Amino acid sequence: MEDGVTVDEKEAVRIIRHAIDSGVNYVDTAYPYHQGTSEIVVGKALGDGYRDKVFLADKSPIWKLEKESDFDSILEEQLQKLQTDHIDFYLLHALNKERFEKIKNLHLIDHMLEARKAGKIRYLGFSFHDDLEVFKQIVDYTDQWDFCQIQYNYINRAYQAGDEGLAYAAEKGLAVIIMEPLLGGRLANLSEHVAEVFSKDKTSVEHALDFLWDKKEVSLLLSGMGTEQQVEDNLVYAGRSAVGMLTAEEKKQYEKAKEIYDKMSMVDCTGCAYCMPCPFGLNIPELFKAYNTYGPEGKDGMKREYEKQQVRSDSCRSCHRCEKVCPQNIKISEQMKKIAELMK
Ligand code: SF4
Ligand code: SF4
Repeated sequence: MEDGVTVDEKEAVRIIRHAIDSGVNYVDTAYPYHQGTSEIVVGKALGDGYRDKVFLADKSPIWKLEKESDFDSILEEQLQKLQTDHIDFYLLHALNKERFEKIKNLHLIDHMLEARKAGKIRYLGFSFHDDLEVFKQIVDYTDQWDFCQIQYNYINRAYQAGDEGLAYAAEKGLAVIIMEPLLGGRLANLSEHVAEVFSKDKTSVEHALDFLWDKKEVSLLLSGMGTEQQVEDNLVYAGRSAVGMLTAEEKKQYEKAKEIYDKMSMVDCTGCAYCMPCPFGLNIPELFKAYNTYGPEGKDGMKREYEKQQVRSDSCRSCHRCEKVCPQNIKISEQMKKIAELMK
């Protein structure tokens, strides 16, 4: 399911079950997804015997924890919402330097170990959004991690954990799960300048996923799917995938594509919508999407997209609410000022 705001529950349950019937065996959710409704819908989708066919992943919302016992009460709430007695892969969600301090202060590894002893979770992990140095510190903090989840794709190779973090975690024996393989969908909709670098026998999505499946350090990748067609496509691509599948020539294409992409991109927004809703009505990911058309399409192209927005970036009041939750650490209010200036 996409991480938008509303969920068509019946359709989501149908698509999830169809995916499982077709061989998908890992389902990932989190406390804040779809404003708290994702876990409930996943719980319903995994009824009628589907729970036993998958590994279920969920995450502890560290930013909500104020005291140690909050970890346990939120885990209980999640088990209830998911209608299950255990979560297979349990992650401390979206760790960065500040949240890492919190997991130390609140002794959250101990709480995870207790929860594992009680059979409520099976594998311990964390998802990550900060720089490489912090990533290594977290990996090295305990030998209890079973896995980690990082943002990684052929554009983000030196961003956050990146190439080096992937190799580091794998070498330390952690399974590595990849999120944002399509950079919030942006690698599915490439501008023609980037797309022309790649061979035409695969779609942009398949190129992006193959980059990851090729790597022996990658254990699993998570790709948000909002339609049945996306499920079908991904099943076909996964069926063709293998470690070491790329030729030297293909590997060069990714480097070239990144070079062009980086030149054109204005802001690293993945469209995850964690920052929404904005109290002043801005559609932050859509405004950034418009901003990112500036590189390939120039000011006129950007203006066409920008003017589709009812609330424009000059309505930003710099309240910084959105910046506290943006996993890409984007200085959103500053960017809104730049956009407003450009669109004057
Ligand atoms: S800083 Fe601007 S964009 Fe962000 S929540 Fe506040 S008003 Fe909205
Ligand atoms: S601004 Fe940050 S939180 Fe908002 S959609 Fe973009 S990446 Fe996600």
